[in-house]
Amino acid sequence: MHELSLVEGILAIVREELAKHGLCRLLRVRVKHGALTAVVPEALETAFEVLTAGTDLAGALLETELVPLSVRCRSCGQEFSPKDEDRFLMPCPACGAELGHTVLTGRELLIDSIEAE
Ligand SMILES: [Zn+2]
Repeated sequence: MHELSLVEGILAIVREELAKHGLCRLLRVRVKHGALTAVVPEALETAFEVLTAGTDLAGALLETELVPLSVRCRSCGQEFSPKDEDRFLMPCPACGAELGHTVLTGRELLIDSIEAE
C-alpha cells in the first residue's frame, strides 16, 4: 500500500522534529496533499493509526488538506484551476489553449505543521 510507506516517511520526519525540540507527546500532524498526488486521505489516516498504535505516537491525530490543482497557461499566462473533468485537456478560460500549462499547485505532498508538547 502506497499510503503506508508515505506515512512511514511522515513519522520519521515527525520523530526527528520532536527529538530536535525536546518534545515527547505528538498531538497532531497536518499534511497537505496535492490533487495530482492521488493520495486517498482515508487510506492515509488508516495507515497513520496502524503505524502509531502501541507506539510513543499513539493517540495523535492526522489531518489532511487537499491542495487543488492550479496551472498557468502556456500561451497567455492566465492562472486557473481546471475542473476535475478537464484534468487531461485543460482548456484555458482566457484563450482556450489546452496543452503545456505549468502546474503551480497540486503536486505537493508535505507536512504543513506538527503540534506536540
Ligand atoms: Zn491562455
